[in-house]
Order: sequence, then structure tokens, then C-alpha cells
Amino acid sequence: MGIIEKFKFIKPGEVRTRFAPSPTGFLHIGSARTALFNYIFAKKSKGSFILRIEDTDVERSKPEFEKDIIENLKYMGIEKDEDIYKQSERRDIYAKYLEKLLKQGKAYYCFCSEEELEAQRQEQMSRGLPARYNGKCSNLSSKEVKNKLAQGQKCIIRFKIPAKKVSFEDMVRKNIEFDSSLIGDTAIAKDLKSPLYNFAVVVDDFEMKISHVIRGEDLLPNIPIQILLQKALGFPKPEYAHLPLILGPDKSKLSKRHGAVSIGEYKKQGYLPETLINFLAFLGWNPGTEREVYSLASLIKEFSIERVQKGAAVFNIKRLDFLNGFYIRQKSPEKLTELCLPYLIQEGLIEPVFKTEQYPPAYGGMSITQDYKVNETKEKVGFDYLKNIIAIYQERLKKLSEITELTDFFFKDELRYDKKLLQWKDMTDEEIESSLDRLTEVLSKIKDKDWTKKSLENILTLEAEKIGDRGKILWPLRAALTGKEASAGPFEIAEILGKEKTLKRLKEARELL
Ligand code: GLU
Repeated sequence: MGIIEKFKFIKPGEVRTRFAPSPTGFLHIGSARTALFNYIFAKKSKGSFILRIEDTDVERSKPEFEKDIIENLKYMGIEKDEDIYKQSERRDIYAKYLEKLLKQGKAYYCFCSEEELEAQRQEQMSRGLPARYNGKCSNLSSKEVKNKLAQGQKCIIRFKIPAKKVSFEDMVRKNIEFDSSLIGDTAIAKDLKSPLYNFAVVVDDFEMKISHVIRGEDLLPNIPIQILLQKALGFPKPEYAHLPLILGPDKSKLSKRHGAVSIGEYKKQGYLPETLINFLAFLGWNPGTEREVYSLASLIKEFSIERVQKGAAVFNIKRLDFLNGFYIRQKSPEKLTELCLPYLIQEGLIEPVFKTEQYPPAYGGMSITQDYKVNETKEKVGFDYLKNIIAIYQERLKKLSEITELTDFFFKDELRYDKKLLQWKDMTDEEIESSLDRLTEVLSKIKDKDWTKKSLENILTLEAEKIGDRGKILWPLRAALTGKEASAGPFEIAEILGKEKTLKRLKEARELL
């Protein structure tokens, strides 16, 4: 369906929002928040959410950024309602409107050189005046313009900014006023087919029948030009909502210094889509209650633009971890295993043996199967075995990527650790040795069929009580099995490792001393 026919079917009064990223970087937290608010706002009103790639800046726009933006929106479940619009494919439309403005004398070609403009700026600034174009080329006769164009002189197209006071009501920032006499005539295109940001946005918002423009406050300085362009072109003004800035924990603008800033990086670390959605929603919005957990569906129900704050939002990574831990605990062990396996595979700990079902690509495109090989020991293990391992960490997992460090000892042949790790409090080497010997003796006697967490716990607790200090038995056991300062409890670990491997690790610990 062509663009014109498609828009014919839009119902009058229909809410239509857009997310309009420039593909000049990976999908940033701030942009993702803009996308989310536009999406929720449209869905709440049963309207449409569209995705428009603003790629008219040929030098800075890159296909890999466009791909990253599209993939990560998908990962978060922010679905567009129409095919993607790309500004680079709409140059004829902009040309039509540029010609109209030129014909009406509301825009003009400017042939001033960079040096000339720079000298002008310097001169204005030295007199304490705002730097703005002096309007020189607006006085060229049409013949002069024709000649210069025919000679191929370098030029741009400027919009004649009418000097007037303009005010409008922003849904978040309330009444905003500006005096356009402070802005000089502004460049809106490099040539008929190369519009600049302000012009392309105004034309597209009109052409795409955008009813509400929701975007970051950093774009507010462009609003005077955009509103004046709308007036010049005879377009209705959409409603505006400018979202507050996002600051890092130190209250400076969120940037790479504060850690990961792209959604892709958070996805890689294993933050779930539901976490990201819930987290982003609270960057500038809150329900006014104590409730913290919101799914996308409940946000659509509860969200209101009136509750979007003017003041900056502060990025709090602890909240992100809290939410992710929460959503991880909600998963079934099967689902969590599916989510974690790609990390174990990527780390080289295990390898899928059969690639059968394709894993949903949103989670990294890894194959999930029933059979795996442990790379170091060459053992064959099944999905359920891996599920048991992952399940004992479900409670403490904050992000999926942590699973490799928490569980790697299950997939190693021999553990490497300092013998000091085996020491509980001030135990002597002799005491540790005797604990390890005692453990070996007791555990050797347990029949395979009794090798369960429950009976291991019963037997070893009894043994520990004989010594008087549980730590003297259970700490060296846990340390010998994991080679780690902290881990899940020794009984559940021993159950999964099995008798043979448990005894082997006790023997290795004994040899270490
Ligand atoms: N393309 C602009 C940007 O990425 C946003 C355009 C708009 O929302 O008006 O900053």
C-alpha cells in the first residue's frame, strides 16, 4: 500500500505517535525511554505507534545502528504498527514542500560562505549580540539566484523566521514561550533533496498524521523553528510532550562514564525485556503509589502523561538489578535455563550437541536442545541436569550473565584455588585434613540411591554436630566442591555433582594441603 492510500484510512482524532531515531548510534537508554512512552501513549488510546528512521545525515547514519535500534525495540516488545519509514526514501516529498516555501518567498537560497558566516558570528558576539544569520541572501533577486545556481555556487536553503512571540502548551512542561526574533533565518536544507532535521521532522509529522510528539527535552530548542515551519506550511500543530533529562547517579547527564548506556549492552548482560520496560517507565514517570512492578500491559493501563515529571530522572542501577532479580525469580526453571544456556555456551563451558529447536532470536539466537557436552570433561549432560544447576541460583541471580561465574565449577575437571579457602575460622591444616578425611569416609558409605540433598543433609549435619562446630565440616566441604568463597549450599551442590565427583574433589582438596 502506498503512503497516501495508507493514511487515507486513519480515523479522525486517532492518536498517532512516532519514535524517530537518527541511526547515528546504538539504541540509547534515553531513546528507548522515548520509544516506550510513545508506544504506551498510543496503545492506551488504541492508536498507532510508528517507527521513523531519520537518516538524512548521510555521513553519520549507519546501517548497523539502524539494525541495532530495530532489534532492541523488538527485544523489549515495542512493536510498530506500520512498516518502517525511512527519511532517506522520502526525499521527493520534502522537495515538494521546500519548493512551495521557496515559491512563496518563505525560504530562500543562501550562498554565504563558511568564512563569511564565521566572521559574522564573531562580529555579533563581540558586540554582545546573539549569533544569527544577518539575512543577506534574502535580498537577492530571483535573477541573481538563478545565475548563482546555474553557476553551481555552493548554497543552502534558509527559512525566513518571522519575528514574533510564539507560545504553546507542552503536556509536560506546560506553557512555553519564545521570541523568534532571537533566532536568525535558519538552514532547513542543503538542497531540494537534502532536508535538514527540523524541516524533515515537520513535514513527516504532518504527512504521517502524528497527533502527539513525545520526545526528549534535549530537542526543545528546536521547537520554535518547528512551530514556525508548521505555520508557514499551513500544517496543524501536533500536541507536544518533552520528557525530562536522564541523569547519572552523580546528577550529571547520563553518559558512558556511568557505565552501559545502550539497550544492547544491557541485553547482553542479561537484563530481561520486562525489566527494561519496567525500569524505563520510571525514568520520568511514576504511578504516585508504592507499586513498583509494572508489565508493559499494566503500563498501558495505568500510564498517564500528566504524571510525567518536569524535573530530571535519575538512573539507578540498583533498581535495575532489583527488578531483574524479581523477574528472574518469576521464571519457571525451564524458562530460566533456556535464558541462561546461551551464556554458558558463549563462555565455552558447554556446547549443544544437537541443534534442534531454534531459540527465540530475541534472546541471542542460540540453539536450545536436550543434549550438551561439557567442553572440559567431554561429559554428556542433559537439559535437566543443567536446569538443576541453574535452579539453585535462581534466587540470587541479578542478571543472566552472572550464571557463568556462579556455576563454572560444575563444568571444570579440576578446580584451582588457594588451600586457605578450605579453612573455616582458625582451623589448623591438621583439622582441615581430618575434616576432609571424615567427609570422605562418611560420604563413601552412602549408597548411590541415597545420594540426595535431603539425606546428605541429614547425615552430614549429624556428623557436624559431633564436632560441635558445623562450619568445621560444612565449610571445607563446600569450598572443596566449588573452589569458591561463596556459592549455593554444599548439599544441593553435592547432589548435582554426584558421589564420584564429590569424592574426587575431596581427594583433590586433601592433596592440596
Ligand atoms: N531524530 C531526532 C533524534 O534522534 C529526533 C526527532 C524528533 O523526535 O523530533 O534526536
